[in-house]
Amino acid sequence: MSQPPVIFWFRRDLRLDDNTGLHEAIKSGHPVIPLYIIDPRIRQSDRYSHARMAFLLDSMEAVNQRLSDYNAHLLVRHGNPHSILSELIQQTNASGLYFNADYTPFAVKRDETLQDNLSIDVRSFDDALLIPPGGVMKDDGTPYVVYTPFKKRWNDKIKPATSTVEMSSDNFYNISEIENVGIPSREQLEIQTNIPIPSAKETYAQSKLTHYIKSAINAYDTDRNHLTIDPFNDDRQTGSSFLSHYFRLGILSPRQAYWAARDKYGNNQSESAQQSIATWVSELTWREFYMHIMYHFPHVDRNNFRDTYDALKWRSAPEELQAWKDGLTGYPIIDAPMRQLRAIGWMPNRARMIVASFLTKDLLIHWQEGERHFMQYLLDGDPAANNGGWQWAAGTGTDAQPYFRIFNPTSQSKKFDKDGDYIRHWIPELNNVPKKYIHEPWKMDAPPTNYPAPIVDHKFARKRTLEAFKAAREVEPA
Ligand SMILES: Cc1cc2nc3c(=O)[nH]c(=O)nc-3n(C[C@H](O)[C@H](O)[C@H](O)COP(=O)(O)OP(=O)(O)OC[C@H]3O[C@@H](n4cnc5c(N)ncnc54)[C@H](O)[C@@H]3O)c2cc1C
Repeated sequence: MSQPPVIFWFRRDLRLDDNTGLHEAIKSGHPVIPLYIIDPRIRQSDRYSHARMAFLLDSMEAVNQRLSDYNAHLLVRHGNPHSILSELIQQTNASGLYFNADYTPFAVKRDETLQDNLSIDVRSFDDALLIPPGGVMKDDGTPYVVYTPFKKRWNDKIKPATSTVEMSSDNFYNISEIENVGIPSREQLEIQTNIPIPSAKETYAQSKLTHYIKSAINAYDTDRNHLTIDPFNDDRQTGSSFLSHYFRLGILSPRQAYWAARDKYGNNQSESAQQSIATWVSELTWREFYMHIMYHFPHVDRNNFRDTYDALKWRSAPEELQAWKDGLTGYPIIDAPMRQLRAIGWMPNRARMIVASFLTKDLLIHWQEGERHFMQYLLDGDPAANNGGWQWAAGTGTDAQPYFRIFNPTSQSKKFDKDGDYIRHWIPELNNVPKKYIHEPWKMDAPPTNYPAPIVDHKFARKRTLEAFKAAREVEPA
């Protein structure tokens, strides 16, 4: 082949199917160099997750395996993207660079610099969302900051179809002549994690999506708040779709999910099933909303969305923070999910809301502490969704719940883990506690001696938080 190659740079889109940028690169007719760059800055970040990195390595392996059907390989390089790309362009005379846009402040800045400094044709595609930032704006041209009107407009937008392209070995550049360090091992990257890593194969993720749409989405409205114990280890677990880690790395695309749900919706479903399907699609919309927010308001990444609460006096309480992280607060409904997070790298949405409320409202500890801890352990840890969830719970965000709405951990526990099965699974010390006391073991005459007493009294904490938020609101902005 005499044509110069083009580079396709994989980032958070580790799949071959419905990959907009990759398909465009193939359609260009130039042989494609599939590339992944391991940027050392990611590993130095305070939000770095060993588990997520292990999952990423597996997903690179899965992409490489699929490429081998076309006698192609994933080229893996380690270093600063600009230097790596410049060197590769020189080595191969590549005439173009293709990638899918990423909308976090870090990625936007990195990509803008590349576009300004590389001497070849750089093409960025919208792929990670159904509707990219800028595509859902108010009539006055400003971004939405409240979810419900965002969703209404998002619903009206025409959604792109999934993309398909015929691939053959002719579409790929023979990289055997250039240095390829290959996919590093966990040892080489000094990954330390005990979290079992779910399959990262694209076909497996697609089969999970298909199975969910076929057998469980119709009950989403009733099951979504279920405190699922371990969805990755037991196929019979009900609740939500358990697909977020696939969306995070782009092993699944949002278009694949959206159209699968839409097809089901239009397929003779009952009214309640249709309602459930619509609710599930609205969760995909939350994902889009928070990415739009982070794109339009990059300050949220390290600051309150609303400066009303910049004067809030968060507490410095390292021991209480540690107890929260370790699942030793004495509140079973807090400790069970915090232990689950460390054990399997996932937590149900309801539990995320409960533990986030507890950290920010009962302990009055800054949401950024919780945000960071979640990023260090969640397999689906996503800067925009995580930030949105934390700022919502803390009351500092866009569509924040009002500051005076504070979750009562015991009522949440009684409502969402009625029989205490979830608690007992994750807190074996409470195995023998009768149902009557499982939510409040401190009320027993003789509570288990190997489980702590509550580190804070909820009633007292609630009052303290209301006062702190009220005081912050009364401070005049500078
Ligand atoms: C404090 C807090 C932190 C969170 N951190 C993350 C995070 O780092 N990464 C992440 O993907 N989600 C995060 N969420 C949102 C939500 O909890 C997870 O997306 C969901 O639990 C994943 O399980 P699932 O795939 O079964 O979701 P389902 O209920 O089946 O939803 C389908 C998909 O919609 C998306 N989604 C669902 N709820 C939300 C939401 N509230 N915000 C944004 N996207 C959503 C996810 O991609 C999810 O896979 C957070 C929520 C809170 C309250």
